[in-house]
Amino acid sequence: MEATTKSGKEDVVSVENLAPLFIAQQRFEQAAAYIAGFKEGLIDFFKAPKRTIGVCFPIEMDDGTVRTFHGYRVLHNHVLGPGKGGIRYHPKVTRAEVASLAALMTWKCAIANLPFGGAKGGVICDPKQLSQTELRRITRRFISELGDAIGPQTDIPAPDMYTDEHTMAWIYDTYDILHPGRNNLPVVTGKPLELGGSLGRTEATGRGCLYATQRFLAGAGLSGLSSVADARVVVQGFGNVGSVVARQFREAGAIIVAVSDSKGGVYTEGGLDLEMVSTQKREVGTVVGTPDTQTLSNEDLLALECDILIPAALGAVIHYDNAERVAARLVVEAANGPVTLMADEILQARQIPVLPDILVNAGGVTVSYFEWVQNLANESWSLEEVNEKLRRKMDAAVDAVMGRWQTLLEGTRGDEANDTSLEINLRIAALVQAIEHVARVTLQRGIWP
Ligand code: NAD
Repeated sequence: MEATTKSGKEDVVSVENLAPLFIAQQRFEQAAAYIAGFKEGLIDFFKAPKRTIGVCFPIEMDDGTVRTFHGYRVLHNHVLGPGKGGIRYHPKVTRAEVASLAALMTWKCAIANLPFGGAKGGVICDPKQLSQTELRRITRRFISELGDAIGPQTDIPAPDMYTDEHTMAWIYDTYDILHPGRNNLPVVTGKPLELGGSLGRTEATGRGCLYATQRFLAGAGLSGLSSVADARVVVQGFGNVGSVVARQFREAGAIIVAVSDSKGGVYTEGGLDLEMVSTQKREVGTVVGTPDTQTLSNEDLLALECDILIPAALGAVIHYDNAERVAARLVVEAANGPVTLMADEILQARQIPVLPDILVNAGGVTVSYFEWVQNLANESWSLEEVNEKLRRKMDAAVDAVMGRWQTLLEGTRGDEANDTSLEINLRIAALVQAIEHVARVTLQRGIWP
């Protein structure tokens, strides 16, 4: 598949295959090549989802007509515990996309050492064209179609693209009506606070990015960049994740020189006033035009000279055609999949490390896990407790991945014929760490029967 991308000022057709499923499969193969010592054939079990449910249902629309909707729930693996993963509402949802995202959740939960497997769901629909009552009917019907495929101990949904805490409240309510007389709060996370949601969930992904970056910098010793304090930071995206990332990094002493949204970016050499940027976004609908800032395109923003570049918007934004222009010392993948396969290679050759999404943006699912634990115990933790536990989880995950990175490097260096140390990056190390963890537990449990 060819993809149209933007390089510099001209539109070009890239040679790169940007399909998320293709990228996920290639990365799995790259990591699997470094995994040895398990029973032959075991690793193949992780290539396909364990279970895929496809449903089709009618919905009566507000105007009295009836429309048919299709939805999916994929459980990739449940060796570590119940499935965990969001439900997205989008016209471009496909079974293959949901399956590749479910696999990513397996690896993300394994890296964060959460007692969850990987899952994902989606309904093909355009939420921008649907009323709240239509969305509520779609959600209730979708959840009732899934029946006992989801549950507090089997598969636990969460928000994803175009679903939010209201959607999660409807999911809980529907499940609770179908299963009365027991504590059903842990069936879904990302709920409103008054309905069993957790403090700190909204900011968790951005906060986790900061904690992971701090831990990495403290341990990795990137020359000239040992901490977030005084680092010059560029953030692409100013939504849920991007705006929190920018604020969190600034509170930790970083200088946020540029941020952007879909309409473009804003830049100030001495550091942006994020309150003014937020006001502009709220009142005008875009960060562009914030007083005392320079406007720039998203492509030019990605090429700004800085210490840390944080793509926090879309997938595949750093690709074959623009990776040479990246002028950061470190890339932190707050978004899912912002750096493509070819861009990984280019950045690796240019010695620009990439902190991979499956490690760095695991803060969201980690606090979802905390919400689930609080719901099971009918407890409500303070924000300080949530953040402290999140920091410990992110630190441990970064340490484990960096440890595996070192052992992988040591394992290939010195063997001239097979020296692949230049290929081994943090993403491969993170995936190897995750796949080995799930493989070990699969064998500990014993293959049935
Ligand atoms: P969001 O919809 O709140 O924000 C997305 C931002 O990206 C917006 O500011 C939007 O204007 C901007 N954007 C859209 N198109 C753009 C373009 N062409 N160029 C530049 N910016 C553009 O979404 P979010 O929840 O902040 O998620 C952002 C990313 O983080 C996604 O990849 C998501 O999968 C990932 N992620 C989110 C969470 C979470 O907890 N929300 C957890 C893990 C990963």
